[in-house]
Amino acid sequence: MEENDQIADKEEVLKIAEGVGSVSHKMLEYARERVKPGAKLLDVANAIEAFAKEQGYGLAFPVNLSINEYAAHYTPSSEDKRMFGEKDVVKIDLGAEKDGVLGDCAITLDLSGENGKLIEASEEALQNAISTVKAGVKLGDIGKVIEDTIKSKGYVPIKNLGGHGVRVNDLHSDPFIPNYGNGDETVLNEGDIIALEPFATNGKGYVVNSDFYEIYGYVGEAATRNGDARIMLKEIEKSYRNNPFAVRWLSELFSSSFSLYSAVRELLRVGAIEVYPALAESGKGLVSQFEHEMVVEKDGCRVLTK
Ligand code: MN
Ligand code: MN
Repeated sequence: MEENDQIADKEEVLKIAEGVGSVSHKMLEYARERVKPGAKLLDVANAIEAFAKEQGYGLAFPVNLSINEYAAHYTPSSEDKRMFGEKDVVKIDLGAEKDGVLGDCAITLDLSGENGKLIEASEEALQNAISTVKAGVKLGDIGKVIEDTIKSKGYVPIKNLGGHGVRVNDLHSDPFIPNYGNGDETVLNEGDIIALEPFATNGKGYVVNSDFYEIYGYVGEAATRNGDARIMLKEIEKSYRNNPFAVRWLSELFSSSFSLYSAVRELLRVGAIEVYPALAESGKGLVSQFEHEMVVEKDGCRVLTK
């Protein structure tokens, strides 16, 4: 009886995941038309996020617009003036959300047209990796396919980033799926929802935390005497308890960006929130990334973010 309940629950999640995946894909297509030299990152991020809401969906996490050596976790701040440049390599990583079911997918745009091979390296690595996915495949074997594809193009994979399981209200769930052949013999199971995300670079092949902070996650209740911080924490507990948020999403609560970011620093200090720093390639190499989310089947997989 209990087993049947779980299956029914899994089917329900999968049904929602299909809608979430489809909307996530549409968000990427919407983004593709707007990421252009001279466009402001803040305008583009706001527009993509509004588009998801117009479709009746929430956001699994803030839209990431990570440029050049930034691999992930860059999203514009509330007063960000930055524009896309003529030569930028832009990773757009995003996901819709419904009832805690999370989307996750990414593309890279090469605004100069000079980095075609770098783009191809991660895009083909993703396609080749997807074609290996089925129940029983070893994680290390998926990683090997990714590594071999990227190296065949003259680049290296980023080893400390990888794919992951996706569960309700848990975007980076077990297992970690490597972007290189690490020999992990853990296997995928039928019905698992996973995301694969190869990163290719002409740098050193690993990312480090930068000092750019804009994406945070709720940790738990904490005491503070700072009034602004208390107002902010209340809103985070109401709206962003489960999934990461951008500081700019809280900007309407405050009269200035000084008070906004002061409240953030206080909540970080008392441990109510944690930061996801923007991740930069350690050799300042250019980075490309592609990502799809899929459900593992007996003899293959079904891509959800299409
Ligand atoms: Mn992911
Ligand atoms: Mn992603």
